[in-house]
This record gives sequence, structure tokens and C-alpha cells, in this order.
Amino acid sequence: MTGICGLCKEEKKLCHSHIIPEFFYKNIYDHYGRFYEISTDEDSRVNFEQKGAREYLFCEDCEQHLNTNETYVNQFFFGRTEIDMTIYDEYAVVENADYKKFKLLQLSILWRASITSHSFFRDVDLGEEVEKQLREMILEEEPGDPSFFGCNINMIKLPKGLDANFFTSPDIFEKDDKLAYRFVFSNMVWIFFDPESKIDESIEQTFIKPDGQIIINQMEFQQLPFLTEFVKELKEAGKLEEVAKFTKKEET
Ligand SMILES: [Zn+2]
Repeated sequence: MTGICGLCKEEKKLCHSHIIPEFFYKNIYDHYGRFYEISTDEDSRVNFEQKGAREYLFCEDCEQHLNTNETYVNQFFFGRTEIDMTIYDEYAVVENADYKKFKLLQLSILWRASITSHSFFRDVDLGEEVEKQLREMILEEEPGDPSFFGCNINMIKLPKGLDANFFTSPDIFEKDDKLAYRFVFSNMVWIFFDPESKIDESIEQTFIKPDGQIIINQMEFQQLPFLTEFVKELKEAGKLEEVAKFTKKEET
């Protein structure tokens, strides 16, 4: 398919591009073959998909460009990159992340969710001006300041016996002077704060910093009502057995 590439804006052959990078699903293909996508759309709350949300968005060159940062973050979470990490009860502190690559990957996820027409990301709309600004930053590999769409990452602690990878349709969090976009993928909650927001210092501290520090919080499953509700609904609908089938780890 030929069209205008979302990143370089040239007319080229377009790839079937992922909105959330594929490696965040990969782990789950390996173990379970499937994962859960939970949409805010009441009629299609749960999707079992094999490949994740995709759209014809970028040319091959731009896919490669985005891939540099994706490869780094993939290695960071799932590979053998040496991470200098100290784990405490409720959070972990990483000291040696690559600010530029990590931050650009975060920004590119938010940006892709905004420019896609895929219904899964319909609540994310940053507006033309911010989209353009992000596009240029990604193209020029300019990660900006830590507080520019700073992202607070939380690992979800799943209850015993529940073995799944949750992806939810991102939603907007708006309260007092705060505006944020909440994503759940790969059993992590990623909350991007609008730069105009008033952000608590305790949250701001968790954003990746130019010296490579990131604070990753732990979040109990019970703190996420939309996920606990979802599991309850599955139980009530008698679908939990079906879920168990998909989430059961293969014996190795
Ligand atoms: Zn391109």
C-alpha cells in the first residue's frame, strides 16, 4: 500500500505498523500465543488478537528509524542489557538507562496513539500542533526535557493464579490541574502527563532523567478497578476457564 508516511511525510510504500511496539506483545506470543486487549467500547470489551493494533502508517525507512529506540527498550525490559537497578518493596530505581532512546520511545508511543485512526486509541488526541512537535522531535531524535510528556511507569503485580498480559484502550485522566494519558500494556501502566499539568513532585521524580535514572513503581492489581472489574465479569460470564486456557503457561 502506497501513501503519505506519518513520520517523513513522503509518499512511499507503507508498512503495516504497530502502534504499541511489537516486542511488548512478543513475550506473550512466546508463552501464551494470545493476550488481552480491553477496549473502553462496551460492545467489544475484550479482544483476543494475535498481532496487536496496527495501521499502514510508516515507510520502511521510518520503521527502521523508530526501531533503533524500540530495540534498546526491548533489550532493557526483556533482553540482556546490563541494568543497574535497585529493587525496594514498592518501587525500583534504574540508574543507567539511555535517556535519549528511552524517552524517544515513550514519546513515539504517545504520538503514534494520537495519529492513528485505530479505534483502540480513540481517546488519545493531542491536537495537530503537539502531534507536529512530537513528529519533529522523533525525526530529529530530540528527546526534550524530562517534564515534556513525562511518563510515570508502574509494574502491575498480578494476583496469584492470574497469568496474563493486559493491554487496555488508553484513557484520559483529568483532575484539578492535571491532564494525563493512561496506557496499560505488557502488564505495566504508563501515565503520560501533559506538560501544562501541575505534577506532584513524587510523580515527577519517577520520570526518566537525562542522567539515566527512572523510578518504576509497583502497583497492586487491586488498585486498577478496570482490570479487577474485567476479571470479575469474565468470572460471572463463566469465561474464566477460557481465560485460564489462554493464560496457562506452557510447560517447558
Ligand atoms: Zn517515512
